[in-house]
Amino acid sequence: SQEPTSNFIRNRIRKELESGAYEYIVTRFPPEPNGYLHVGHAKSIVLNFSLPQEFGGYTNLRFDDTNPAREEQRYIDAIREDVHWLGYQWKNECHASDYFETLYGYALHLIDRGLAYVDSQDADAIREQRGTLTEPGRPSPHRDRSPEENRDLFERMRAGEFEDGAHVLRAKIDMAAPNINLRDPVIYRIRHQAHPRTGTEWCIYPSYDFAHGQSDAIESITHSLCTLEFEDHRPLYEWLLEHLPVPSRPHQIEFSRLNLDFTVLSKRRLTRLVDEGHVDGWDDPRMPTIAGIRRRGFTPQSIRAFCNEIGVTKSESVIPFGALERNLRDDLNVRAPRRMAVLRPLKVVLSNFPSDETEWFEAANHPQNPDMGTRQVAMTREIFIEEEDFMEDAPKKFFRLKPGGEVRLRNAFIIRCDEVIKDDSGRVVELHCSYDPETRSGQPGADRKVKGTIHWVSASHSVQAEVRLYDRLFNVPHPAADKERDFVEHLNPESLEIIPDARLEASLADAGVGEHYQFERTGYFVPDPLTRPERPVFNRAVTLRDAWAK
Ligand code: ATP
Ligand code: MG
Ligand code: MG
Repeated sequence: SQEPTSNFIRNRIRKELESGAYEYIVTRFPPEPNGYLHVGHAKSIVLNFSLPQEFGGYTNLRFDDTNPAREEQRYIDAIREDVHWLGYQWKNECHASDYFETLYGYALHLIDRGLAYVDSQDADAIREQRGTLTEPGRPSPHRDRSPEENRDLFERMRAGEFEDGAHVLRAKIDMAAPNINLRDPVIYRIRHQAHPRTGTEWCIYPSYDFAHGQSDAIESITHSLCTLEFEDHRPLYEWLLEHLPVPSRPHQIEFSRLNLDFTVLSKRRLTRLVDEGHVDGWDDPRMPTIAGIRRRGFTPQSIRAFCNEIGVTKSESVIPFGALERNLRDDLNVRAPRRMAVLRPLKVVLSNFPSDETEWFEAANHPQNPDMGTRQVAMTREIFIEEEDFMEDAPKKFFRLKPGGEVRLRNAFIIRCDEVIKDDSGRVVELHCSYDPETRSGQPGADRKVKGTIHWVSASHSVQAEVRLYDRLFNVPHPAADKERDFVEHLNPESLEIIPDARLEASLADAGVGEHYQFERTGYFVPDPLTRPERPVFNRAVTLRDAWAK
C-alpha cells in the first residue's frame, strides 16, 4: 500500500537495471542467530525484501552462523517467525555453515598462491603488530612461511591437532595498508566447539569477513546491503572476491543503522536485559525486539510504514520512539474496533434506573466507518466509570463528573451526580447519580449539550481483566551512550504498570491474540498471549496521543 521512498540504493539499482547491468536482483537478509531480531533489523529486512519485490528478483534468508559460541536453534526459529510475521517470504533459507567445505577450499586456494599464511602468535601479539591509524603494521615472523608449510599446518588445524588459539590463518595482503582491515586479517580460527548445525565436524571456523562475501557470491547475491560499520571492510570484501574462484561477483552497499531513543538496539545489550532479568524475556512488550513489540500490539503494517518513512541514507541519526508509535496509531485508528473499558473503576449507582432491568444501547464499532457495524452494550443500575472522570473539588475547567454536575455517558444518556459516598478514610467509593431518560438517542433531549462525555461499563455485564500499561524502558534518550554508567542503571523502574481489576465490555473476554481494539479514551489494546476467557489480560500497545510530544 505504501509507496517506497526514494533512496540512493533504489536509485542505483534502477540505473543498473536500465543500463542492462542486471536483469533482476538478488539480496539477502543475514542475521547471526545469537539473539532475537529487533526493530533495527526490521529496517534491513524491509529494505532487502522490498527492492526485489519492486525491481524483480528475490531475497534469501541467510543465517550467518560462523561463530558457534553464541548461536542457538531457538534463535533460528524466532528469526524465521519474525521475518514471516513482518510479511516477507524468502526464496532460499541458507546457512553460512552450509559453505564451510567450500570456504575451506577457498582458504587452500589462497594458501597455494602465497596469499594466506598460518600465524602461530597469540591474539595479543597479532593485534599489537597490526599498528594504528597513524602507525603502519609490522610483519609477523611467520609471514614468509612457504605455501607447503602453510598447507600442512592448515590441514592439521582442520584435523584437530592443535589447541584453540595455537594458530590462525591470515590473508597476506599489506601490513602497511592505510585501511587496517587489509593488514593481514585473520580469516580462520581454531575453536573446539560444537556447532548447532555441523556438530563436531569442524574445529576451525572462518571469520565474518572471510565467510560473508564468499557466501554472497555462492548465492549469486547481486547487492549485499549492510550497515555503515562495514564500510571499512569493503576493500577486504573486494580483495577476497578478486582473488578467489567465486561463481559470481556481488557488491556491498552500506547504509546507516536505525537508532531509536529511550531504548537500545543491540543484541549484546538486549541479551543482558534478558539474562539479568531486567525484563521478562525476549518478548517482553517493553523490549524493542520484533517479538516484544508484536506482543505489545504493534502491527507488521505499522513497522513497514515506519521503515518506509525513515528511509535509507548514509547519515547516522536517532529516530524518536514516538515515530514508531505514531505509525501504529495511524494504522490502528483506521482498523481497530472501538470498545469501552474502565481501567480504574469507580462504582456509580443510577438511583432512578430499575434495579432488575438491562437496557441495550447500540454502539458504533468505529465512528468514521459504518461498515465496521455496531454492537449492543448493556446498561444497568450499577455501572463503573473511570476514577479520574470524577472530581470532588473540581476546577472550573473540569468538564467530567463533579458533585451536582452532569456528564454524558458515551452511547447512552446524561447523568447527574447527586451524592458522593466515602469510606472511613474519606476516599470516594461510590457515586449516586440520576439519569435523564429524555437524553437517550432518538429522544427529544438527545442533543442536549453537556461539556463532557465519558466511557463506562455495566457492573453486571462486564468482565474483570488485568491490564498492562507500558512506559519507556529507559529514563534517558541515549542509555548506551553514557560512558560513566552502565546502561542498565538508566532503566525506568516504572516501565510496567499492572492494573489487576480493570472492567471491560463483556464481549472482550473472548478476544483472541492478534486482535486490536481501541478502548475509547485510553488507547489501543491487544489481548496478551496469557489471556484466558476467565481471566483476560490486555496490553496497551500505544496511547491515543503522544504523551511525550512537546
Ligand atoms: P547487533 O549489534 O544488534 O548484534 P548485528 O548487526 O550484529 O546487530 P546481525 O544479526 O549481524 O546483527 O544483523 C543482520 C543484519 O541486520 C545485518 O545486515 C545488519 O547490518 C542489519 N542490522 C542490524 N542492526 C541494524 C540496525 N540497527 N539498523 C539497520 N540494520 C541493522
Ligand atoms: Mg552481524
Ligand atoms: Mg552482533
